[in-house]
Amino acid sequence: MVHGLSVDVEGFAESHAQSVRVDPSLTDTGVSDTEIEANLNTTLDLFAQHVCRATFFFLGRIGESSPHLVRMTADAGHEIGCHSYQHLRITGQTPDEFRDHLTRARAALQDASGQPVLGFRAPDFSIGAGNLWAFDELYAAGFRYDSSVVPTDIHDVYGMSDVPEEIYRWPNGLIEFPLPVMRILGESVPVGGGGYFRLFPLWLTQRGFRQSARAGRPGVFYIHPYEIGAVAPRLSGLSVTRRFRHYVRLGRGRKRLGWLLERLEFAPMVEVLKRQEFDVGVE
Ligand SMILES: [Zn+2]
Repeated sequence: MVHGLSVDVEGFAESHAQSVRVDPSLTDTGVSDTEIEANLNTTLDLFAQHVCRATFFFLGRIGESSPHLVRMTADAGHEIGCHSYQHLRITGQTPDEFRDHLTRARAALQDASGQPVLGFRAPDFSIGAGNLWAFDELYAAGFRYDSSVVPTDIHDVYGMSDVPEEIYRWPNGLIEFPLPVMRILGESVPVGGGGYFRLFPLWLTQRGFRQSARAGRPGVFYIHPYEIGAVAPRLSGLSVTRRFRHYVRLGRGRKRLGWLLERLEFAPMVEVLKRQEFDVGVE
């Protein structure tokens, strides 16, 4: 079974700016892009070393401020996807605002990469029962698949229960590639990456993907450049639990992901969809 591999490209501070108080100097574009470039280089090196390719969901604003980062990633053979324009949750936006962000982001990323941008992932997986209209906006803006749905109700920010765990289509034709979950103590727990990957022992993540494969479902793994390159600013004033949640094993991502890349087979998401015979409209 070939699983999807994805990287959400954003700076560490902008990633957390809606969860905790962040000093505005840390989300300055220049500061953020310097960090992103260093960590992205480490990420591309790691993937080259393991001869694997992935989907990189870039913030559209990076396509404008640092287009060379998008180009360099596309030139290395990876798929470019969109992670909205800025790292803002869709739950706080109107359909008009979301549409403007999508149009601007998709144009910037297509210009920078020279690729059609077909895939989308919402910041903080922030599409749920309260904003299902987002799927219509995505399709109208030219996207052909989404990977923003986590079929769980255990997380404080994201999740949607009563949705399939396998790849499916929304009524408008948009394909959904949900994040994998695993049954632990009766709950559906995300095993696809991020904080859960850093928290769980590696064998548990591997087991989650193997269970998914046995059920005939490709999973998708996600990670951030700052979890691989580990160049991250220190955020001040965090509670002990917040500090743990955002920094646990942050410096060990490269080694831990390398372990997983040796044991599971991954490909860009658009290629996994094609293998599963989902027509994304491009050859
Ligand atoms: Zn993100």
